[in-house]
Order: sequence, then structure tokens, then C-alpha cells
Amino acid sequence: MPIYEYVCRDCKNHFEVLTTSTHADEPAKCPKCGSMKVAKTISVSNFRMGSAKPAIPGGALSGCSSKSGFS
Ligand SMILES: [Zn+2]
Repeated sequence: MPIYEYVCRDCKNHFEVLTTSTHADEPAKCPKCGSMKVAKTISVSNFRMGSAKPAIPGGALSGCSSKSGFS
């Protein structure tokens, strides 16, 4: 089941939505403030840990698709 990550434009809350086939196109809503002004993000790429590091040669994020259990 795909998990989509969103960021709320109002409160900057990051949250994940576990989609089902029947609700694949359902608009997401921020669970924190209830705003529907959310933007879908791509997993992991949005999480740069606030570091000032430039991109690391060799791919520091290799294997990033196997994110472990937030659900
Ligand atoms: Zn919000």
C-alpha cells in the first residue's frame, strides 16, 4: 500500500497518508490544523535533516525507499 507524505502549507506539519485503492485520489487534510492546503512530497527527499551538507558523492541516500515503519 502506498504511503504518501504531505506537508501542510498552513502549519508546516508533515504527515503521511496511507492510501487505499478506493481513496487514492481523496484530497489529504492536515491532521493537526485541518487545513486542506497541503502539498504532496516525495518520501525522504524532503527530509534533509536540516544539514548544510552538500550532496555527497556516492549516494548517501541509497536504499532510501525502504523506510521503516512509521505506521
Ligand atoms: Zn496543518
